[in-house]
Amino acid sequence: MALQFPEGLKRQAAGLASDLKSAGFDVIISGDPCYGACDLALDTVTEGKADVLVHFGHAPVDDRPDVIFEPWIVDFDVEVLAQALPPLREKTVGLVTTVQHAHLVPAMEAFLASRGYEARVGEGTPRTPLRGQVLGCSFAAAKATGAREILFVGTGVFHPIGIALATRARVIALDPLTGTAQEVSAESLLRRRSAVIEKARAAWSFGIILSTKSGQERRALARRLATLAPGAVIITMREVSPDQILNLGFDCYVNTACPRLAYDDQVRFGRPVLSPQEFEILCGVRAWDDYTIDEIA
Ligand code: SF4
Repeated sequence: MALQFPEGLKRQAAGLASDLKSAGFDVIISGDPCYGACDLALDTVTEGKADVLVHFGHAPVDDRPDVIFEPWIVDFDVEVLAQALPPLREKTVGLVTTVQHAHLVPAMEAFLASRGYEARVGEGTPRTPLRGQVLGCSFAAAKATGAREILFVGTGVFHPIGIALATRARVIALDPLTGTAQEVSAESLLRRRSAVIEKARAAWSFGIILSTKSGQERRALARRLATLAPGAVIITMREVSPDQILNLGFDCYVNTACPRLAYDDQVRFGRPVLSPQEFEILCGVRAWDDYTIDEIA
């Protein structure tokens, strides 16, 4: 069998491989960078190096019969949700979280009910199969709640900002490990993205990045975007790095790979990297008022 770990769990690889070897399995480890279930080391099974791939840390983002997904759960005491109650204005709230904490959704719902709040939880989708689960590229579970106020339980600000843009709801983010709760605003991200679009107005050549990763390849989208400007050409890439961006020499890039690349990593790239929706705004086929966060369906 082949084992694949995201960057944050790679240190577990040696111990787990050793345990599996002792249990009689023939084990290999995929050492390439991996950030999600969208980036499966499928070559291990398609090229006969292993019978099955075991991917740790994520739920599936698509249907893969030859892959076993082994989520990595992170527990916390749901009483920590008490920290998120003072900032809430509504008694009915959408409840969303990330894959590590999705097993605690029923306990979180029960806690909120015990404090007089109705939690609305979106059902799973093919890309986010766990109840209440969101990804940096899919906020379907947040949209499904239809709530005016959403409680995100997890770490970091990218997911709650994405939820705010995708739903237009008021979003409270609770870090369950520190107990910090805060209202999240998308304003600063919108200002930064508006500046990137303005910078791209001087561009003539556009590289439309088409990922070759298993769960990031959006070929139809890339093809459609390539029709929007005469200087737009599709570029296939596996890892999108600042060096590759500079070496290819395009004035501007449009990212159809992991949406977070454009939003999180712009400062690393020496050229504007637009989301598909931002490129549509640049090309005049979408209004700024219709700005939305990029998601993979
Ligand atoms: S595309 Fe990006 S946000 Fe979505 S699962 Fe992959 S790494 Fe995560």
